[in-house]
Amino acid sequence: MVWLRNLVFIVVLALIARASRHALGNDSAWIFFCTGIVLLLHWHVLQLARVSKWTEDLRRPPPVTTGSWDDLLARLYKYHRSQERRLYDAEEGLQGAVAAGQALPDGVVTLDAGFHITWCNRIARQHLGLRIPADQGQNLLNLMRAPEFVRYASQDSWTEPLLVRSPASNERLLMVQLIVYGRRQRMVLTRDVTQIEKLETTRRDFVANVSHELRTPLTVLAGFLETLKDMPDEALSAEQREQYMGMMLEQAQRMQAIVADLLTLSALEASPSAEPHPVCMRTLIEAARQQAEPLSAGRHRFTWRIDDTLDLLGTPTELGSAVTNLLVNAVRYTPEGGHITISWQRTADGGARYQVTDTGIGIAAHHLPRLAERFYRVDRSRSRESGGTGLGLAITKHIAMRHDGELQIASEVGKGSTFAMAFPAERVTVAEDDTA
Ligand code: ADP
Repeated sequence: MVWLRNLVFIVVLALIARASRHALGNDSAWIFFCTGIVLLLHWHVLQLARVSKWTEDLRRPPPVTTGSWDDLLARLYKYHRSQERRLYDAEEGLQGAVAAGQALPDGVVTLDAGFHITWCNRIARQHLGLRIPADQGQNLLNLMRAPEFVRYASQDSWTEPLLVRSPASNERLLMVQLIVYGRRQRMVLTRDVTQIEKLETTRRDFVANVSHELRTPLTVLAGFLETLKDMPDEALSAEQREQYMGMMLEQAQRMQAIVADLLTLSALEASPSAEPHPVCMRTLIEAARQQAEPLSAGRHRFTWRIDDTLDLLGTPTELGSAVTNLLVNAVRYTPEGGHITISWQRTADGGARYQVTDTGIGIAAHHLPRLAERFYRVDRSRSRESGGTGLGLAITKHIAMRHDGELQIASEVGKGSTFAMAFPAERVTVAEDDTA
């Protein structure tokens, strides 16, 4: 105890001075006592100076003294160290929380009660086009001015998220959710749902397209059936009946073809890649030829440039369907007298390419990027007349991709088209010699 030690010192000093009074005289005893007190004071001032110097940098250990200051300094130093440790732990925790916020796959912006930005993570900067530190302290409503967001922000509570276009890019669709936390602080969570929205639109369009495609033949078929039902047998000649039956069959076959292609597409989508079984391409191309030449019925000239030594690793039924699709399309979209060249050759990079070039009607450049979409046709009536379902190229593209390849299209209106499937070297294999 500081005061006790000093008290004991003063009492002892007083007792010594008192005891020496007879030997030294009154004055000298007083002088001895006062000198003792002054020395004590001087010692304390010295210690105070050392402590004051130490407080300039509290991270150093405190000065070593003897006597009453040690207890005081030890306690101060201990307290300072414990505070320092707590501060360090708190800083670590804060940095961890900030790093976790930065690592989130969604955007996070923290706001005060007046919607002023206090912090945001990297994704939020991309989603909302925020510039930090320039936008720190800015009111978010000045940066996100979309009326639907302003309306949403002015609500009292936010139970549902809002879909809104990103202020950074109009192409990007964001799902935004406001959350209240702490003392009336707010947080904005942002999620990029552009792809999800696109998929949803594609799905909706697809359902609408399928219904539309099936409705036309169904309407025709139902019309004929109703007519036949209400008509007495003798009202129709044998030829008329034959003609009606033929037309009904045609519509039924059309629906069958659409459903078959849809089933093929969904089967292709169900498994991501094709098994790498050796596939004899010569046989597949020959089978395609068996279908294409009767369809052409001598109206076209064919040139075949087939490398018999090249085979592919993949699924024969899928590759057969893709090879046939491209060839049959060339026949269907090339007027009489046209020339169709089919080639299956190795490419410079060690891969292989199946290519069908025709001198047909060709396709305008703006159609090319959408040509492999489901049900996309350049000329609807022409496609229908020739028995097309509008799904052939979508299927072919899928098959090429499942074999790590790609569908390539080049075309010019009135001059003709080239449709090709290019496969990488890993999918190409040398054909087994079956001549032996
Ligand atoms: P379809 O069953 O209508 O032929 P596809 O998916 O096979 O459907 O082809 C989509 C569209 O691409 C066709 O409707 C046609 O307009 C166009 N097309 C495909 N192949 C050719 C080609 N060789 N020449 C010109 N146009 C073609």
